[in-house]
Amino acid sequence: MNTVIANEEINPQKLQRAREIILHLQKQMPDYIAKGHGPFLAAIYDEKGNLIAQEANSVVSENCSHNHAEMNTIKAAEKKLNTYDLSSYNLSLYVTSEPCMMCLGGIMWSGIKAVYYGVPSQRVEEITGFDEGFKPDWFNEFKKRGITAYGNIEVKAGEQVLKEYVSGGHTVYRPER
Ligand SMILES: [Zn+2]
Repeated sequence: MNTVIANEEINPQKLQRAREIILHLQKQMPDYIAKGHGPFLAAIYDEKGNLIAQEANSVVSENCSHNHAEMNTIKAAEKKLNTYDLSSYNLSLYVTSEPCMMCLGGIMWSGIKAVYYGVPSQRVEEITGFDEGFKPDWFNEFKKRGITAYGNIEVKAGEQVLKEYVSGGHTVYRPER
């Protein structure tokens, strides 16, 4: 089922750190949702464990279709570090759900070195109705570019927040087709 997957041999220390951070993000999500954010939260940490940036999805509240949590967090980190290229900082991005097709591109362009996510896209789509887009074999594509990826971390807790978002009657937005 939802066993942890990675594009390298799983490193128990990295995984444990990711579990802690992603659980922490999931716990904070209801507060963000209550303030009008979408149900996705991301954070960028440096290799010493310092938090560089943390942002939630703000598509609805800011009327911008690309304001996903990952994009907002990357923007905030680049602004903070005053650079468009994060590659020399050895940064990791943690996010409550698997990045969508847009965010995979955004991560690649940012110079982020590692990505850790919670709920896989298929479950996000099943629970919420959001469309995560068509995706390449991104684990291997990231590996080729030197970007580590771990997925399916603390899925149960993440699914619970998504279910509460839907049952709370919040907006699930998608373009008309
Ligand atoms: Zn996205």
